[in-house]
Amino acid sequence: MTTIGTGGPARALARPRSLTELEEAVRYAQGEGLEVVVIGLGSNVLAADEGVDALVVRLEGALADAEARGELVVAGGGATNAVCLHRARAAGLGGFEFACAIPGTAGGGVRMNAGAYGRDWTDVLVRALVVSAEGSRWLTPAELGLAYRHADLRPGQVVAQVEYRLEPRPPDEIKATVAELVARRKDTQPTNKRTFGSVFKNPPGELGAGALLERCGLKGYRIGGAMISPKHANFIENADGATSADCLALMVEARRRAREQFGVELEREVVFLGDLALS
Ligand SMILES: Cc1cc2nc3c(=O)[nH]c(=O)nc-3n(C[C@H](O)[C@H](O)[C@H](O)COP(=O)(O)OP(=O)(O)OC[C@H]3O[C@@H](n4cnc5c(N)ncnc54)[C@H](O)[C@@H]3O)c2cc1C
Repeated sequence: MTTIGTGGPARALARPRSLTELEEAVRYAQGEGLEVVVIGLGSNVLAADEGVDALVVRLEGALADAEARGELVVAGGGATNAVCLHRARAAGLGGFEFACAIPGTAGGGVRMNAGAYGRDWTDVLVRALVVSAEGSRWLTPAELGLAYRHADLRPGQVVAQVEYRLEPRPPDEIKATVAELVARRKDTQPTNKRTFGSVFKNPPGELGAGALLERCGLKGYRIGGAMISPKHANFIENADGATSADCLALMVEARRRAREQFGVELEREVVFLGDLALS
């Protein structure tokens, strides 16, 4: 269930297709004393090889669909960015093109405040419906505390629905922008490999995490089946039967080198699920 293709099983799995089913699943978890962990496309997570002792929730059906309503795109938390972009384009709504190369869902985008090409979820999100054991509430970006690759969402809070405000734009122009952005991506990132996207957040200062790790000589560096991407040093590829432990060991080594060679303390962007920690 993760794009890097590592990690063990969940203690329990729920695949709610409606708000009612989601609320039932959350109540069930509370009754069983189980933590709730939502997974979107698993495109920014590293899950422990031993598995995840939680009720893993994956939103499906109506909770993974999207539709245009006037200048809004209303999407379930599990709707992929590709589906949202498709609905927006069909309705002649632009502004979401930046998400074309982010392989996640609406809920994952909120949780990570995902972004690219100078835009992120704060530029399009009007509000998100958050479901938890305490009930359901619509929250604005300010109430969600969206910041660079961060939201204040607590474990157990599920983004069930979102509203994006977009602006009229001819579908042909949207298509052309997307084609250009996707081509740029292919030139610079390992888009055809199994990865979980950016490993670390960009530190303050001129050098991004990728450039910094490249200067540490880490491109192509390998532990077990995991390898720092030869194309972009802030990506880890599952080169050959990698485990999450291999990926973690690479992250530890990358942080050590960045600290020793540049005095920079890299902060991880990837979300850990289960018993994983960076020493
Ligand atoms: C090739 C590649 C390129 C990428 N490029 C970018 C990029 O340019 N910019 C960028 O920002 N990211 C990028 N990413 C990372 C990733 O795609 C984004 O962070 C994305 O938004 C994660 O969405 P997801 O649905 O896959 O979330 P997941 O990876 O499944 O989960 C990530 C976090 O979000 C939480 N979550 C997921 N769904 C919900 C929900 N419904 N409610 C509450 N919490 C939820 C999870 O519990 C977890 O904490 C890239 C990843 C890959 C593999």
